Amino acid sequence: MKTLIRNALLVTMNAQNEVIENGSIVIDGNKLAYVGPAEWTPPGPFDRTIGADQRIAMPGMVNAHCHSPANLVRGRMPSKPLEIWRAYYRASLRDMRDEDFYASALLGGMEILKNGTTTVLDHFFGNQACRFMGAGAAIQAMRDLGLRHVISLTLSDKNYEETLPLGETASHLTEEIKRMSASEAKATEAWIDDCEEFIDAFHAPERLTTCCPGPSAVQRCSDDLLRGAANIAHKRKLPLHIHLAETKAQAVMGKQLYGTSLLQHLASLGILGPTLLWPTPFGSSLPTSSFLLEAERPRFTIQQAICVSAVG
Ligand SMILES: [Zn+2]
Repeated sequence: MKTLIRNALLVTMNAQNEVIENGSIVIDGNKLAYVGPAEWTPPGPFDRTIGADQRIAMPGMVNAHCHSPANLVRGRMPSKPLEIWRAYYRASLRDMRDEDFYASALLGGMEILKNGTTTVLDHFFGNQACRFMGAGAAIQAMRDLGLRHVISLTLSDKNYEETLPLGETASHLTEEIKRMSASEAKATEAWIDDCEEFIDAFHAPERLTTCCPGPSAVQRCSDDLLRGAANIAHKRKLPLHIHLAETKAQAVMGKQLYGTSLLQHLASLGILGPTLLWPTPFGSSLPTSSFLLEAERPRFTIQQAICVSAVG
């Protein structure tokens, strides 16, 4: 099957950032055989010709951070600061099962494909009553769509109340918070074993799936879990994905827990490096240029409010 796409405005994103006004693309089987000016298009015959007048053709975009289970509950949560919103969101996940995680990933996947995104990183946290929290169902949905995906299994071995600067919370509330978070508690080694088994079961780049560890956030993980996740990533040559200092409350907690910033704590554990991917709050300025050594800098940081990054 040979396809010609003609008359496209080609945004090549090559090293010269070339934009070609009257461009052609030839696809032979599942490979790009030609991308360039119309006058140099290789001769046909073509099985199919698509006129792309008034359209832009460009490399597929990458959604570099999302949580696919959230697609089904979009707009149903009250608008609250992240740490409070998260409690509502986690409660909704406890009612979801594999078929819900499949539907939720399918819904979001269809939407982003329609908008030109062909690769997605899903920092997956679902329901612990399901195998791998339901991540296998999300993977199936993305494979069914033909959407390339990185599934970063969310790991967290601290209770909710240990991760926030709650201060002098009324005692009756403390008990309620402990009750809420108890169902999510899991031991460090159990998370590490789960993560290894998950990667063994699903990592298959030839089937569009890359699996990797995804510690939820520095303050939500013990140092042993952070090191363990980094070891898995290093040993298997996979990325490591983590939330980093998303809110002021988290930054305050970093100082309380470690006496330093969350980023500096990660550095002290020796797990920074070019394969570490972190989403940052929109507009925040992490000290990536002044603080980090060249070898410690991540290859990409991701503006979370935009969630689209031309990486990969
Ligand atoms: Zn996130």
